[in-house]
Amino acid sequence: MPVLALAGPFLHGSVLIRELLEKRLPGWSIVKSTDAAARAAEVAVCWNQPHGIWDQLPALRMAHSIGVGVDHLFADPTFPNVPVCKVIDDDQVRRMDEYVLWCTLYYHRGFDLAASSQREKVWQRPPNRRANQVTVGVMGLGQIGSRIAATLCQQGYDLRGWSRSGKPIDGVRVYGGEAGLGPFLRELDILVCMLPLTSETTGILDGRLFARLKPGARLVQCGRGPQLNEVDLVAALDSGQLGGAVVDVFNEEPLPLENVLWEHPKILVTPHMAAVMPLPDVVDQIAENCERLLSGAPLLRVVERSAGY
Ligand code: NDP
Repeated sequence: MPVLALAGPFLHGSVLIRELLEKRLPGWSIVKSTDAAARAAEVAVCWNQPHGIWDQLPALRMAHSIGVGVDHLFADPTFPNVPVCKVIDDDQVRRMDEYVLWCTLYYHRGFDLAASSQREKVWQRPPNRRANQVTVGVMGLGQIGSRIAATLCQQGYDLRGWSRSGKPIDGVRVYGGEAGLGPFLRELDILVCMLPLTSETTGILDGRLFARLKPGARLVQCGRGPQLNEVDLVAALDSGQLGGAVVDVFNEEPLPLENVLWEHPKILVTPHMAAVMPLPDVVDQIAENCERLLSGAPLLRVVERSAGY
């Protein structure tokens, strides 16, 4: 019987994932990566697993993330050279698209200002700007970022994009690589981070980057927590260099009670909710790749290891 090892901890709870996998893959034995039986595991289902566990999984042939991010695997120098697959579908891309559209409207139409005026009982209309007077920049133009850029273009925003390659997108002024970062940032009213977490993007949202934005620009951070320097974010908001931030992902999740981001008046904290795929859909995608692995069919949603995302 083929063996699948769960290597968590999982956000949704390992018990539920295990039950769903057992139902969907009745011919497989589902174990924990710490069980002795895991030595026969050909598949590991992973999320934020501890580094260095791979000696316990010598038969591994595929590692499957339960999310879009695979940074938790590549950050471990002991991770073996096996194919890595992620989960993503159109519905998840649509959810992220909705989230960013909402954040863009929130800042464009001044709902943040209306909320703070309400707290002070001040009747004050926010500035009235047309969408084409608002410049939005999307960092990361992959499967999700390119869809967001297209949607915001359709809504009439002035769109800019930044990626490693600078690959063109219709209607979007795209910049590429380190050289393109400064010109990309310079004119933005709203910066959306939709980058994967790699060694190059860790800490990218820091004081130096905020200083390259127009004073008062807004940030929407829905990439990965370690991309954002939270101390620099607070400093930039307090100095007025940034006018506000919606933050969905954090260095530590759940966000600890004592973290100052919770109560900062210019920050909207959302609990890593931007685009969560329902667990049965996650399990379906994993199960399909397990079946493919056994039958020798090509795996789906394989991540390019050399790029790290
Ligand atoms: P993709 O892998 O499809 O695309 C990544 C994009 O980022 C590409 O455009 C790539 O450039 C660009 N990129 C990568 N590294 C760099 C770099 N160093 N400098 C400039 N650009 C870079 O990713 P997805 O669109 O599928 O997802 C992006 C990330 O979103 C995920 O990795 C995950 O962390 C996050 N996410 C967050 C969720 C949430 O709920 N908050 C839910 C889902 C995803 P190029 O085009 O040149 O390759």
